[in-house]
Amino acid sequence: MQSSKLTQTLSFGLDIHTGSGDDLQTGCLEARRIRNETNRLDQSGWDWTDIKSTVVDNADHVNNTTQLIVDKALGEIETYLDNKTDGWGRPYPYIDESYPMVMNHGEGYRLFPEDDRTVRFRITATRGTHVKGELCGSADHFDRLQTAFNDEEWRVGMAEVVHKHGEWRLHVTVTHKTHQVASKADADTVVGVDVNEDCIALAAMSRDGSVEDSVVLEYPSVKEQRHEFFTKRKRMQKAEQTGFETVVKTEERDYVHDCLHKVSRKVVAWVSQFNDPVIVFEDLKDMRESIDYRTRMNRRLHSLPFAALQEMVSYKAAWEGIPSDNVDPEYTSQRCPRTECQHTERANRHKKRFKCKRCAFQDHADRKAAVCVVQKWLERETGNVPSLETLPRVRKVRRAASGAGGGPDSHGHSLCSGVHRQVTSAQDSPSQAREELKTVASAVQD
Ligand SMILES: [Zn+2]
Repeated sequence: MQSSKLTQTLSFGLDIHTGSGDDLQTGCLEARRIRNETNRLDQSGWDWTDIKSTVVDNADHVNNTTQLIVDKALGEIETYLDNKTDGWGRPYPYIDESYPMVMNHGEGYRLFPEDDRTVRFRITATRGTHVKGELCGSADHFDRLQTAFNDEEWRVGMAEVVHKHGEWRLHVTVTHKTHQVASKADADTVVGVDVNEDCIALAAMSRDGSVEDSVVLEYPSVKEQRHEFFTKRKRMQKAEQTGFETVVKTEERDYVHDCLHKVSRKVVAWVSQFNDPVIVFEDLKDMRESIDYRTRMNRRLHSLPFAALQEMVSYKAAWEGIPSDNVDPEYTSQRCPRTECQHTERANRHKKRFKCKRCAFQDHADRKAAVCVVQKWLERETGNVPSLETLPRVRKVRRAASGAGGGPDSHGHSLCSGVHRQVTSAQDSPSQAREELKTVASAVQD
């Protein structure tokens, strides 16, 4: 059985004391030049070994950093070559935006943990130019970094300097030396995840297409609380109580963070019950770029820290040896999951209710989206989507973010999804199906 080492990426802000953001900018511009040069030489038919040596000899970065940047650029070309039959475009030969500096710990950058939990950094921005200061970031990421320094089993690996949202950041990878995460290729159960502003829906399917189980974890409290914090902040802004505003922001951040931990623990506990699972998320990067999805996604992306939730789930899952993966999120909420239908239309979905305009298949909209995530993954990984026979009842767990509470069943609330065989073959027994659908409609609107 194939497996890989447990690796995590930790993200930190940079509080610069010596040198400046301009130095980092120069370093990233050089990284971009290296990246573009690598693409240009590849297009001119150069051998990749020759590209490496030539580009490294002429770059303004330390050799090790240049090698890593060239590797990253070649990696992008390789991904394109592996996927071009699926319509992937070649990477643009010249990019205008900045490109990350990729560095090895001890060569392009170094971190110095201090006794008082602060961590100093030194980054070689270009040959002979050093930028120094302190890292800033979340307590979680500091904890993991400390573990990587103090625990023999961990090591600090590569890092990237990136400029994001007007801020310089360092993405540091830490790797566990022995802990293994199963290979997604060996997974028996595929768990699709659909994250929404008020719930996370999970659907576990075996490779033959049967849905083993599904659950909808609701967290109305996150939304309610966020609204409460929002009102509180607005009130303070009006009163110009800026000091209090910071306090509320911190309170809110801690609260949301706590919820995300609870929800992610429940997700992983639920996933762990299946045979060799892989967890599949919708790719958030693609989500932001997808025009079809803009309205729905914008709302979703701004209402919860989705990236943080996915990251926490992946991290906790990795500790259980469970791998995670992403798929392109396009149409997961609009497509009919019945293999023989697959009708895709925005109007199929209305709030929490999915009803196919063509075949009248009905389901809880988020659970159905989770099923579509699995189908997308199976299609990409195996080139085949097994036919969907039946779906189990949707179980809802209310207030999944509150309390330590046991498994999903402890607060379980069942809801008939109406997705039994009769509905799957709606044409055969229309009256029976219609009866069934009525019950669903009322239950879903509940
Ligand atoms: Zn349909």
